[in-house]
Amino acid sequence: MSISSFIQTESADSTRTTRRIKVEVKNLSFSYGERKALNDVSFEVEEGTIAGILGPNGSGKTTLFRILSTLLPLTSGSVKLAGFSYPAEGALARSVLGIVFQSPSLDKKLTVEENLQHQGHLYNLHGKDLRQRIDELLELFHLSERKKDLVETLSGGLQRRVEVAKGILHQPEILLLDEPSTGIDPAARREIWNYLFTLRNEFHLTILVTTHLMEEAERCDKVLIMDKGKVVAWDSPDQLRSLIPGLILTVRSSTLELLEQEILSLGRTPIKVNGALVVESKRGENYSSLLQFAANLLEKQPNSISALTIAQTSLEDVFLHLTGHQFLIGEKEDETGY
Ligand code: ADP
Ligand code: MG
Repeated sequence: MSISSFIQTESADSTRTTRRIKVEVKNLSFSYGERKALNDVSFEVEEGTIAGILGPNGSGKTTLFRILSTLLPLTSGSVKLAGFSYPAEGALARSVLGIVFQSPSLDKKLTVEENLQHQGHLYNLHGKDLRQRIDELLELFHLSERKKDLVETLSGGLQRRVEVAKGILHQPEILLLDEPSTGIDPAARREIWNYLFTLRNEFHLTILVTTHLMEEAERCDKVLIMDKGKVVAWDSPDQLRSLIPGLILTVRSSTLELLEQEILSLGRTPIKVNGALVVESKRGENYSSLLQFAANLLEKQPNSISALTIAQTSLEDVFLHLTGHQFLIGEKEDETGY
């Protein structure tokens, strides 16, 4: 069996000229009582894309994840998953989804293999088919040698691998992951991403992953940047970075007001962030002219500048550029499962 045998929508003809849209979200809004968590969200994800949903805490990522996982009701707008409308064709939509939650969902007192077997039974997979599928996945995720081990004896990174294997056991077309790097170290994080790349490249799986980590967003084919429930941008990391031409100058100081005035008087408009001022280079400006500007600033205010850095544009700068405020990642991740 292959992933393609599960594709149940549209005729082959319709895919010849255009790529398939696997996730279609239109004018989606959602409120918890008075609090608006999603505000008119629209985007489409093509087959075989890794789409990142990036935003600071509280921006609506998990709410969007829950609606796409069909765990929250649709109250406004429309959602289609592999062509199936939610909620009208909810059961079909669910059948094409694989879901990996932020909080662990494995039974730690069972072995790796037993966890996968139980998941298979939930999807009505049994016997030889199920055994074969489990073996393939154990091999794909380099877990074969650990299949008889209790999940509780596995490292966090290995457990996350089992979670992903469990999520795709029934051969979904779309894999949704909520903050898959939570609680695992950087090396395990890189590993998980390598597996996601394999799932995209070899099985054309469409993958949606929420994250508040810029380095993860950088690995996605396209990034949906969210802020306060709204879509701020939806594009590839390269395209997003090209919104800001060139370099970013960051000036740290304990006397920001004074420095801000100085920068304004030198003909630039800084953006104030936590303890620093950010100056974007101008379109078409060459590097030496920004360096010259930095040198002038240092000359004029030698004592009020504690650090001065010039760096390539990051997605964090793009967020600041688009929203006018900093991407706050210092906040404690909420522990309520939101
Ligand atoms: P994120 O995952 O980006 O941190 P969420 O989707 O969890 O964002 O939250 C979006 C907004 O909705 C936040 O203001 C959050 O406080 C609020 N919210 C989330 N879940 C609930 C809930 N169950 N009840 C009330 N408000 C909620
Ligand atoms: Mg969240």
